[in-house]
Amino acid sequence: MTKYIFISGGVISGLGKGITTASLSAILQNNGYKVSPMKVDMYLNIDAGTIRPIEHGEVFVTEDGLETDQDLGNYERFTGEPLHRVNYMTTGQVYAEVLRKERSFEYEGEDVEAIPHVTDEIIRRIKMAGEDKEIVLIELGGTVGEYQNGIFFEAARILKMNEPENVVHIHVAYLPVPGHLGEMKTKPAQQSVRILNSMGIQPDFVIGRSEQPMDQKRKEKIALFCNIPTEAVIGNPDVESIYQIPLLLAEQNLGFMVCEKLGLKEIKSDLSLWKKLVKTIKSDLPEVKIAVVGKYFGSGDYMLSDVYISVIEAIKHASWANGKKPVLTWIDSDDVEKQGAAKILGGFDGIVVPGGFGERGIEATIKAIQYARENQVPYLGLCYGMQLATIEFARNVAGIKGAHTEEIDPKAKDLVIHIMPDQQKKMLKQEYGGTMRLGAWPCKLAKGTKSLEAYGQANIKERHRHRYEFNNDYKDQLEKAGLKIAGTTPDGKLVEIVEIPDHPFFVGVQFHPEFQSTPFAPHPLFKAFIEAAGK
Ligand code: GLN
Repeated sequence: MTKYIFISGGVISGLGKGITTASLSAILQNNGYKVSPMKVDMYLNIDAGTIRPIEHGEVFVTEDGLETDQDLGNYERFTGEPLHRVNYMTTGQVYAEVLRKERSFEYEGEDVEAIPHVTDEIIRRIKMAGEDKEIVLIELGGTVGEYQNGIFFEAARILKMNEPENVVHIHVAYLPVPGHLGEMKTKPAQQSVRILNSMGIQPDFVIGRSEQPMDQKRKEKIALFCNIPTEAVIGNPDVESIYQIPLLLAEQNLGFMVCEKLGLKEIKSDLSLWKKLVKTIKSDLPEVKIAVVGKYFGSGDYMLSDVYISVIEAIKHASWANGKKPVLTWIDSDDVEKQGAAKILGGFDGIVVPGGFGERGIEATIKAIQYARENQVPYLGLCYGMQLATIEFARNVAGIKGAHTEEIDPKAKDLVIHIMPDQQKKMLKQEYGGTMRLGAWPCKLAKGTKSLEAYGQANIKERHRHRYEFNNDYKDQLEKAGLKIAGTTPDGKLVEIVEIPDHPFFVGVQFHPEFQSTPFAPHPLFKAFIEAAGK
């Protein structure tokens, strides 16, 4: 019998429901259960691929090529298991399927209604995520009480009504400490549980998110007003690293109590690997200073790093594996433009240029790459970071002055990066959604390259998300000038990795290795990059 755990949020967004879901998944997996964490997003987009990153953070890509919310990245990093299309659901997907069924007369003349047809479709998808699994953890996007996500709460209620012994509901709510009071307040959390109650849902557990630890008095208050035992009120204060959360929740017996509620056998958790990881994270290691140069950092007066979350986590994993403390600095490409690469980038041990789209900040980013190349600073280019490194090399080493990418200047004389032929057809038909080269593709590594040395095997598989690629017309010319083609598709047709051999570490990859890095299995390329940076 598959079990279902809903995780909802209240009071404010950005509570770390994703980390809670990922952590509980890790705890349950650690006890031998096959878990399937899934994210529900309330917007009408079919996937996250068409949403501006600044609105919604990173677009994560699954092995089977779905563009999803960044929370799937957290789930994969915490469980070490790849997720698939079934692990991501949006309102758009649900309605598209219901409307498709209606048009093909699959409802056989019925009135097609939100309840039960839409809720049935939601439950069908949740069950699909649970095939061959024992526990599905469903993170409900947004906060309770929003008009937009109500239908998902309704589906959660119906599933619990149908299978009371198989469903648990966990509510994560914020506990503010207003500055003028200096006291932790529980009323907003109580009210948020009241909203849940009004939707017919009684949470089994309430997790209190707060800056400070929650005291016994607040726990008792929440228990009384939210109609649950005191032990079922779990504290989740701010901690130094997200990787402490599984331990923090396990210490409060969350995994044990959830299993008990679901009638699963008593679990004996061994989180010693997590303990070891947290010890490394907190220990006093020598620093490695990494600059991440991107264009999506600035948002009003704030800097957002969510857009590059997988890149940032991969750098951290690789640093810890190398016995280093990662010190990351986000560099807005605009600042490189204004102040010059040398001024901004001097003093870093390594430079990363992550993926991106469009024109803004491009020339400055190319200058940053030139700085890394000329000053022997270890460089790792991811997707756009590989394409721009190719342009930089073409212009400044191979002497192809007008080198460019078709994405920005289709009329440029030397398109060293050009659109993939099938992508061109799609663009002409304005087929933008879910049509990039997506998901995991095989790649073959060349002998005598840093990449082969890092991976330790010639045949690899990495996840992609792009429309443009290295133009093979320039292969000979660039190779003659000293660029090494270190990886291609197995048929040799697409260039996937470029390297500069006489440089401590200069590697650009057309794919996104960051999506496969986990704290317990850091990505080999990131590991090699940090090793070089550490020197
Ligand atoms: N904009 C580039 C392309 O579409 C790179 C994409 C990326 O960095 N993910 O090919």
